[in-house]
This record gives sequence, structure tokens and C-alpha cells, in this order.
Amino acid sequence: MKINCIGTGTMGSTTRGNQSILIDDILFDIGSGVVKKLEEYKFKTKDINYLLITHAHADHFVDLPNLLIGRSIRNENNNLLHIICGKGIREKVVQLFQLCFGDGVEDKYIDIEEKFNIKFIELSNEETFEDQNIKITAYELMHGGCKPILGYILEKEGKNIGYATDTILCDNVNKICQKSDIAFLDANNINATKSHMSLDDVVKMQKENHKCKVCAIHRGDYSHEKYLNIKFPEDGEIIEL
Ligand SMILES: [Zn+2]
Ligand SMILES: [Zn+2]
Repeated sequence: MKINCIGTGTMGSTTRGNQSILIDDILFDIGSGVVKKLEEYKFKTKDINYLLITHAHADHFVDLPNLLIGRSIRNENNNLLHIICGKGIREKVVQLFQLCFGDGVEDKYIDIEEKFNIKFIELSNEETFEDQNIKITAYELMHGGCKPILGYILEKEGKNIGYATDTILCDNVNKICQKSDIAFLDANNINATKSHMSLDDVVKMQKENHKCKVCAIHRGDYSHEKYLNIKFPEDGEIIEL
């Protein structure tokens, strides 16, 4: 399995794009600039069948109109796009479209599912979505006052891929690491904040979960020492699992 690191940065990073990973037809997060990055790396947005949104901050969510309208303009809406997200995210997506393209028409996006051939699957803590190829479990995280904020485990081809940003170090981050073969964790800065893990927190998770390959993403442009067992992916990097 190939995990494509589309973006590995956090807000404020000048060297890397907003974090996002792509595994076959499954995209994690769609913050500003992600669609152009996908195109730059020669991926076709029409091939994405599942989109996992962690939360509604700009660096995880606001490129969704570019994705959906781009597919629509190019008549690439034939495949249903499953949008897996927290409770209330559908409403925020409608608000985003209304703000950007509402043109004063109050209910323009009331039928957003039919317009773009999408389906929202809103999950709460430890709820799952499953079809013949994949299983996705949501885990509630802690990210300042932001709600909903989810991490995920994707089960595919006998492997578990964990994804936990943005968050402070909490029980569910540990749970994601315990259950995953590889986990992408919030390494926002050297020091923890009220909304984000630190690099030290990522190191701690790696030490406590030896079986999990830990990747530090959502990284600011700080310099750091090398850690033998932690990966620091760059944009465009492909990780084989
Ligand atoms: Zn955030
Ligand atoms: Zn973020």
C-alpha cells in the first residue's frame, strides 16, 4: 500500500503545504491548497471516492468547494464521493458554499448531495463506517474549543492507518497508536499548546507504542534532532506500508 503525503505542514509553514494524505481513493483532509497539490502530483480528483474531514478549520476543510466544483465543471461527478466527518460538518459545508457561491440565494445548497453526488457520513466517537473494501473508525480528539474534532483509523488490506491531528495528547491519541500499524500525529511545534501536541508528545507516543510506525506531520518549520524511529515526511513523499 502506498501512502502519499500531499501536505505535511501546519498553518504558518512557508515550506510545506497543509497536511493531507492520500491512500488509493481515500483522501484525509482538504485544507487550502490541497487540490492544487493533488494536481501537481498528477492525482485526479475524480478518482477520490472517500474524503475524511477531521474538522472545519481552514487548513483541513476549505478546499472542498474547489474539489467539488472542479469535478462538476469537468463532468467528473459519476462516482459517489463519501464525505466522512463529525456531526454538524454537513451544515458547515453548506455554509461554506453559501458564503463563497450563494449569490444571495438563500437555499442554493439545500440539495448539495444531489448537486455534487456526495454523501455525508457523520460519525461520533468510536462509530464506524464500513463497506466492502474499508473500515473507518472515528475517535474524538481535543483541539482547544474546536468541535467536532476527530481522528481516524482506516482499516484496509489488513493494515491499520491512524491519523490524529489536530489535538493535544489525549487518551484517544494513545488508543489510535495502540491499534495502528502506522500513525500520522500532530507535531505542530517543539512545545505543546492548548490545541496541539508537541514533538515531545510524538516521541512519547512512539516510545509507548513500539509496534506503530509514527510519522510527525502538521509540522511547523522548526528544526529538530533526528529520531531513529520517527518519520518526518516531506510533501510529495510516498510511504510504503
Ligand atoms: Zn485545527
Ligand atoms: Zn490544522
